[in-house]
Amino acid sequence: QLSNRLRIVASYLPDHAMFADIGSDHAYLPCYVCLQDHTATAIAGEVNEGPFQSAKSEVSKQGLKDRIEVRKGNGLEVIDSGEVSEITIAGMGASLISLILNDGLSKLKHVSRLILQPNVNAILLRKWFIDHGYELIDEQIVEEEGHYYEILVADKGMPRDPYTDENFEKELLFGPFLMRKSSETFRQKWTSEAENIERILSEMRKASQPNHDKIEDFTRKLNWIKEVLQSES
Ligand code: SAM
Repeated sequence: QLSNRLRIVASYLPDHAMFADIGSDHAYLPCYVCLQDHTATAIAGEVNEGPFQSAKSEVSKQGLKDRIEVRKGNGLEVIDSGEVSEITIAGMGASLISLILNDGLSKLKHVSRLILQPNVNAILLRKWFIDHGYELIDEQIVEEEGHYYEILVADKGMPRDPYTDENFEKELLFGPFLMRKSSETFRQKWTSEAENIERILSEMRKASQPNHDKIEDFTRKLNWIKEVLQSES
């Protein structure tokens, strides 16, 4: 049974997908996609031996060796330029995901869609899209076992810009689509984030030499969260 998190990632792949799943671990995502769509093909990339072996055995167990190639290597080095049209990277921090994308920029020339699921710090990827000519086209948020996961989908060369001038900084942080949809899960995530920040702030204020710049940053973020939660309720 594939997690909801990865099902949402899969739902943004087109029919006949030709994609690479980087950091595939057991290759559950490519197996799920290729079992659903008999015209889909995938490359499952893994840098570590254990997950690489797990991916290979899952692919052969599912009888998908003719459509899923499991390759061992760091990030995008497992794909050749033009080999895939979509890339999925899920279950890592945004800084690692952006490192993988930066290291493999030359491989992205023919990649029309990126579907990314950072565990933390999604703002880094929203900025990365803007800096590298990908337009954010949708976002989802899902809760699993007490963790909140954001899924960001971006297409190359789409003329649409989801950001507004007035709220650009806030939209980068909260996600322009997530902010507008303001789902129950989104509200829960930011309510819990606000509680964390309040705890941090009260500790910081107690310090013998409080760091006023940091306190100011956290206070601004907290105010933004409160505004966003209030404005949509
Ligand atoms: N994508 C799966 C998911 O979302 O459930 C697995 C996520 S798992 C937490 C992260 C996987 O990424 C691990 O199997 C790890 O070996 C792999 N990984 C980490 N850095 C990588 C890199 N630079 N290139 C390829 N794989 C990497």
